[in-house]
Parts: sequence; C-alpha cells; structure tokens
Amino acid sequence: MTAFPTLNGLLHTENVALADIARTYQTPTYVYSRQALTTAFEQFQSGLTGHDHLICFAVKANPSLAILNLFARLGAGFDIVSGGELARVLAAGGDPQKVVFSGVGKSHAEIHAALEAGIFCFNVESTNELQRIQQVAADMGKIAPVSLRVNPNVDAKTHPYISTGLKNNKFGVAFEDAHGLYKQAAQMPNIAVHGVDCHIGSQITELSPFLDALDKVLGLVDALATENIHIQHIDVGGGVGITYSDETPPDFKAYTAAIMQKLAGRQVKVLFEPGRALVGNAGVLLTKVEYLKPGETKNFAIVDAAMNDLMRPALYDAYHRISTIAPSAAPVQTYEVVGPVCESGDFLGHDRDLAIAEGDYLAIHSAGAYGMSMASNYNTRGRAAEVLVDGEQTHLIREREQIADLFKLERLLP
Ligand SMILES: *Cc1c(COP(=O)(O)O)cnc(C)c1O
Repeated sequence: MTAFPTLNGLLHTENVALADIARTYQTPTYVYSRQALTTAFEQFQSGLTGHDHLICFAVKANPSLAILNLFARLGAGFDIVSGGELARVLAAGGDPQKVVFSGVGKSHAEIHAALEAGIFCFNVESTNELQRIQQVAADMGKIAPVSLRVNPNVDAKTHPYISTGLKNNKFGVAFEDAHGLYKQAAQMPNIAVHGVDCHIGSQITELSPFLDALDKVLGLVDALATENIHIQHIDVGGGVGITYSDETPPDFKAYTAAIMQKLAGRQVKVLFEPGRALVGNAGVLLTKVEYLKPGETKNFAIVDAAMNDLMRPALYDAYHRISTIAPSAAPVQTYEVVGPVCESGDFLGHDRDLAIAEGDYLAIHSAGAYGMSMASNYNTRGRAAEVLVDGEQTHLIREREQIADLFKLERLLP
C-alpha cells in the first residue's frame, strides 16, 4: 500500500520513476504523490460520513501552497499556528471559515488578521490571550469565536519534544482552570464560546491517550452544560502517528470510529487537526550520493541533502527509512548517511545497509511531514525543490532556492 513502490527495480510514485525526477529536477528534491495525499484525506474522511465534522489539515506539517490547495479542493479546513500560515491558506484558496487558529503566542496583528479573515475559531491557550482577543475584537467591533485548548494532562507516550498534553508543557489551559475560564469567557462581550479543543502531541501510535483525553474533555463539556455554557464543537486535535519503521499506529477507520463512539448521542460538530498522518508517507526526499568515505570504524555516505533539508533525525533522533531508487552493481555496505553540513549531528540515518556508488540517488522515506516545513538555510544552503507527481505528470510546485536569494535582504555597513 506504499505510495512509493519498486517496479522493475526502479522506485516509482504513481507512473513516474524517481530516477527521472532526479535527472530532470536535480537533488535534493522533495517528491509528493497527489494520489497518496488524496487517498489519505479521503480515508480519514470516510469514517466520518453522517457526522457533522471538519478536518482541519495542520498546515505546519507541510505548508506548500499546492498541497494546501489540493486539500482545500477536497473540502478540508486548516489548523494554523501563525499569521503566516493564515496568509498561505488564503493564497492557496482555502476557506477562512474552515480555519482554526492554535498556538500559544498569537500576536495582536495575527489576531487582527484572523478576525478580518473571519476564521472559524480561535483555540485559546491562556487567560491573557483570551483577554487580548476580547480587546482586539472590541476594537474591531467583531465577535470572536473561541474554544479553549485544554491540557488534559495525559501522557501521549511519544517523544518529549512532540508531547504537548502534559502539565509541564507550555500548551493549553490547565484542566483545573478551564471551567473558570469558560465562565469568564461567557461573560465577555466580544467573545462567543463555540467549542473546546485538545491536542496532546504528535506521532501517537496508540488509541488510549486520545480516548483518555476525550473522556476528560467530555466531562468538562457536561459540567459546562449545567451552567448554561453550551459547547457546539469538540476539536480533538491531531497527532495520529505514521509508520516510519515498524510502528503500528491505529488506522484512520479505527481512530475515527473510537472517537465517534465516545461522541455518540451528542449534538456536537467534531473537528480533527491531522497533519503528519495525511502527508508523512506521501512524500520522500530525493538525494544524491556525493562521496563514499570509508572510515576506521564507520563508512560514510555523504549525500547532497542535510539536516537543513530534513531536520527530524538531528532534532529528534528520528528514523527515516533510506533506500536506493535503482538497481546498483555496488556491494552492500553499512553506511552512516550524512549531509555536508558542518555539524556531527548532521545525519540522515545510522548503520544503513546500502548498495551504492558515488552519483547514485537515494530516497529518504516518510519525509512528507515536518520535512520541507522545518527546512532552513543553515550553512547558506538554498532550500530543496518540491515536485508533485500526478499520474504521468510531474509538477514543480516549488523551485529550488537560489543562493543570491539567501542574502538579498541583507545590507553591508555604510
Ligand atoms: C502540530 C499540531 C497538529 C498536527 O499534529 P500532527 O501530529 O502532525 O497530526 C495539530 N494541532 C495542533 C495544535 C498542532 O500544534
């Protein structure tokens, strides 16, 4: 069921061999499959037919305009965490009335822009943010729709850097404080309480943390109802994991079924904020082997992609499968696959058995989420090109960044 199968020894996506993409567009290049993106969205949605729902793609997982546009055409909403992401959604033809705005540091200008655009809901993460939204909305003569992002204090059992639902995280309103804050919000003249929101982390591979969090949220919803504060939508957040190596995350059907079962009999709209699960396995990063460098204890394969292109291995010690894209006569050896950046943390994979020669290409798999979106220009490296495959066609959806662009905003001293 992979979107990147090997046919006649050549790695493909849809009807295109990745070797052809490497030759045409050079490397490093991110390659996505339109069909894989579409299928992921449709499968996620298929468990929700008959229920009032909105799937808000988490833009930060992959903010490419072409990908946002594709999801918008499929009917998706968007979960944004900055004014920049709002601008992207609008530029990509997304519907502002399907946008939820998360994040702990919303600035005055960002709140203003979101109210101006008429977003669906603010996911409010603190008392002071609620007051700021009230103030901005009052100045603009608008009513701001809000949810409180509550922190249910459940352990998502994921990497500490991507766990967000524990007490010691910066995210959300402490569960014990949520009730009181809802009562305050309900009194604010320019605030309309619409929903409740909860996002506990990322790359979660078990159902139980989602369900434990939802139980706590539903307890809050019921308590609020007794005070005449009626919650119209429940946003269960994102965080469903994907398979990078041998993880077995719940499939979309099992996940949505378990959530919908908990919501049975309730008149609420349900919102989801999947990011990684929709795009992660729909993309790979194509890279070329520049040098093979035998060492005393390790052999290095130095490739033209680096931690600035795909940061997850350096940042989280994350595993990405790495494969060749065409047969090779070279002997199989064990390599450290590393980039050219001047950091020992600049690796893409440890101890990989590969049959490669200099000039061969590699695919770094499961790179569709938090790949290009976390890319930087460290070491004055231009960011990679992005290509989207659609059947036999390849579309360049982002040009390779040119070096001159990297310092065009800089000035010499007079
Ligand atoms: C990052 C994030 C998501 C998406 O998380 P995934 O693990 O990619 O599904 C959803 N909601 C919020 C608030 C986020 O910060």
